[in-house]
Amino acid sequence: MSDVCLDCGACCETFRVSFYWAETDAHPQGRVPHALTTAISPYLVCMRGTERKPSRCVALLGEVGRAVSCNIYEQRSSTCREFDAGTEACNRARQQHGLPSLRLKK
Ligand code: SF4
Ligand code: SF4
Repeated sequence: MSDVCLDCGACCETFRVSFYWAETDAHPQGRVPHALTTAISPYLVCMRGTERKPSRCVALLGEVGRAVSCNIYEQRSSTCREFDAGTEACNRARQQHGLPSLRLKK
């Protein structure tokens, strides 16, 4: 999370956060706690709570738009690591929570 994310968290409460099951600790090299995920296909899992609408990742702490943190920050999935602030998807999530758009990254 970048600094701007610490008082946002909108993406963690908007999208289905899915990734390959082997990123979970059910695989010897995986790190994401398997207990915090749910299967959505034979190969994919998502963070629990993001498989439904309204969505909220089970690992998100705090209040969106005020102060948030990720309870599994060091173990979060590649999907979370690769999601950047200042992208169109980021701004879509922010808009859904009534937060102002960020300047788009070039
Ligand atoms: S929606 Fe954007 S600014 Fe908000 S936490 Fe996610 S990446 Fe950060
Ligand atoms: S694991 Fe952490 S960074 Fe990823 S969606 Fe959940 S709260 Fe957000």
